[in-house]
Amino acid sequence: LSDRLSGVFDKLTKQGALSEDDVKTALREVRVALLEADVSLPVARDFVKAVEAKATGQSVTKSVTPGQQVVKIVHDELVHFLAGDEADIGALKVDNPPAPILMVGLQGGGKTTTTAKLAKRLKEKQGKRVLMASLDVYRPAAMEQLRVLGEQIGVDTLPIVAGESPAQITKRAKQMATMGGYDVYMLDTAGRLSIDDTLMAEVEAVRDIATPRETILVVDGLTGQDAVHTAENFDGRIGITGVILTRMDGDGRGGAALSMRAVTGKPIKFVGLGEKMDALEEFHPERIAGRILGMGDIVSLVEKAQETIEAEHAERMMKRFQKGRFNMNDLKMQLEQMQKMGGMESIMGMMPGMKKAASQIKESGFDESVFKRQIALIQSMTKLERANPQLLQASRKKRIAKGAGLEVPELNQLLKMQRQMADMMKKMGKMGKGGMLKQAVK
Ligand code: GDP
Ligand code: MG
Repeated sequence: LSDRLSGVFDKLTKQGALSEDDVKTALREVRVALLEADVSLPVARDFVKAVEAKATGQSVTKSVTPGQQVVKIVHDELVHFLAGDEADIGALKVDNPPAPILMVGLQGGGKTTTTAKLAKRLKEKQGKRVLMASLDVYRPAAMEQLRVLGEQIGVDTLPIVAGESPAQITKRAKQMATMGGYDVYMLDTAGRLSIDDTLMAEVEAVRDIATPRETILVVDGLTGQDAVHTAENFDGRIGITGVILTRMDGDGRGGAALSMRAVTGKPIKFVGLGEKMDALEEFHPERIAGRILGMGDIVSLVEKAQETIEAEHAERMMKRFQKGRFNMNDLKMQLEQMQKMGGMESIMGMMPGMKKAASQIKESGFDESVFKRQIALIQSMTKLERANPQLLQASRKKRIAKGAGLEVPELNQLLKMQRQMADMMKKMGKMGKGGMLKQAVK
């Protein structure tokens, strides 16, 4: 996605505003890019249509490029699409004890692991008494897996009885949960490698016995086009109430999230972030959106820029950066902007490649009042010195520090910072027009 989009940006930055053609061209690329992030074709198509309607005719904020503007619109729409009703995220209906929760999905998707993770969460965060039961009669090892996890997290499991059917186990789980005064009982069903009729019929029977409060579809976040097929089948036949995406700790793009939302309209409640029992998090739509688009934090950078930077200013800076120039005048301008925009760390942290510089500055005891002193130091330099900071030898340094009412070590720190930034600008400049964005997109 990154390469495609930056290609589009290069085209767009040459123009002034978002015309209908601009948007169309950009979104054609976005659509292809979504497909590369494993979003299913019809979903990508619908999404792009929705964005097109929103984007066309929108004015471009002065201080950002049309390309950046498109990113923000695409991103915002994606977040909106993924989020749905915020109240559903991270929430499970577990009133009227014992509340049954049915876990469904393909084999290896992470059902058993996620069942235990959820049980642990319900126990620890909501103080619920939970009973877990494995309905995987095909693999004794799977039943044993749930029992071991239960022991590990201190959650009871239904005693294993050989030779029972899933329906029989469900009845026994319901009975034990009722008699034993449990708040919740969780049914971990068996999966198959792909959707089949026997599996669905079996899960239907279990559903009819338990009448679950929640039916959670557990899907491997690394699956692509298949995710849609899985979601359609489970939602169509069983009726799901929510989705949990696992393996989001992997390096998949998370396109499945968008597909699942679009096909089922059901909330994505949690994401799995590892094999450990506490590697389960509430779903964060912004994070997944950023991941699908691969944009890093550029969107928030654009937002801040929209509020504070003046267009001419930004453009002038950009031109200088592209030429690889960065002297004390530029630094002063940057410092003044940072003052306005709420601090060096937040701004630099958002610019790829600058996170390290930001943390170094912080380590050196940096705080906001430093801006003022640094600007005072620069003001105490002559014109010639500002444009050519390499001229600053011991005697000049003493004079400048004295003029600002400060000490030479502080001036040395400022010089170091200027050199670091100049180096970075040179690197960015070498990447040519739109280089900064390209860097950001990666
Ligand atoms: P099931 O067949 O659907 O019950 O899947 P399991 O719960 O047995 O999980 C299959 C494998 O995926 C196991 O090795 C799990 O440890 C692993 N797994 C489950 N969830 C996650 C996750 O969020 N991240 C990672 N990295 N691995 C996971
Ligand atoms: Mg299992």
